[in-house]
Amino acid sequence: MPAKIIDGKKIAEKILEKAKKDVKALKEKGTTPKLVVIQVGDDPASSIYVQKKRDKCLELGMASEIKKFGEKITYTEFLFEIEKLNKDDSVHGILIQLPLPEHLSHKQVFETIDVCKDVDGLHPANHGKNLLGKECFRPATPIGIMKILHETGVKLEGKNAVVIGRSNIVGKPIAIMLLNAGCTVTICHSKTTNLKEHTLKADILISAAGKPKLVKESMVKKGAIVIDVGTTKMKNGKLCGDVDFEKVRKKASWITPVPGGVGPMTIASVVENTVKACREITNA
Ligand code: NAD
Repeated sequence: MPAKIIDGKKIAEKILEKAKKDVKALKEKGTTPKLVVIQVGDDPASSIYVQKKRDKCLELGMASEIKKFGEKITYTEFLFEIEKLNKDDSVHGILIQLPLPEHLSHKQVFETIDVCKDVDGLHPANHGKNLLGKECFRPATPIGIMKILHETGVKLEGKNAVVIGRSNIVGKPIAIMLLNAGCTVTICHSKTTNLKEHTLKADILISAAGKPKLVKESMVKKGAIVIDVGTTKMKNGKLCGDVDFEKVRKKASWITPVPGGVGPMTIASVVENTVKACREITNA
């Protein structure tokens, strides 16, 4: 039997419905949750992602703004802009869209965000708390993945989980969250030799490499849950995941599509985190 397809859009809608009610309640108390999304440069994919986040917030009755800076903004100027947002009482969530230009990406920009407004969970303090399994802001995409896994109803404890990718925004935090959920976790990356040897052991396989169709049917254990985080824009304008969907589907038990799997969950988690930040900052 082919894998059941996990409808990320449907799960996200449930989360957003609840968020809408929470926003309404906060507004009745006199506070409107606000998310500021920072974009540096003109990367077309980033422009789409930041607009989607802002538009979803506005649709739910929240406030949201995109702060767009030129590629040439200096490190000092960038930090100054973040500090302004930290001090702005009307702002509850600050999210820096990745990738950043190299002169900023190698600096400690995430340390500058007020930890209480770090709704994408990239401040080192939030990474540390995630590691320790403590209450904190966690990165939006891994939160979305954990919710997707929860929806399958499959018990995570004792499962072999293999994560492809070791970025700070997806690979590392999801590996930690799976570990804290009782999985035995393997992290693979671009320097891993014989990827297939690892992926074949996965009861849960998460791919976040950004390499179209990297995960072939022959690399997947029968009955595995396969979560495809990868999104690569192809020449025909369509998004392609890391997983060879049609073929892997025949072997897996559950699988996420691209688009319509992890993507909508990421946006929903950003919204949820911003509402949470607003509630905590304002004590509402
Ligand atoms: P990244 O480039 O920072 O990290 C990619 C990781 O994949 C690296 O750790 C690298 O070592 C590993 N990798 C690359 N090629 C590999 C290979 N052949 N074998 C094994 N490992 C390999 O990217 P990221 O920010 O973590 O994002 C990963 C992908 O997920 C991208 O396609 C991105 O667009 C997508 N993404 C989607 C969402 C969403 O909401 N759907 C959110 C974040 C990222």
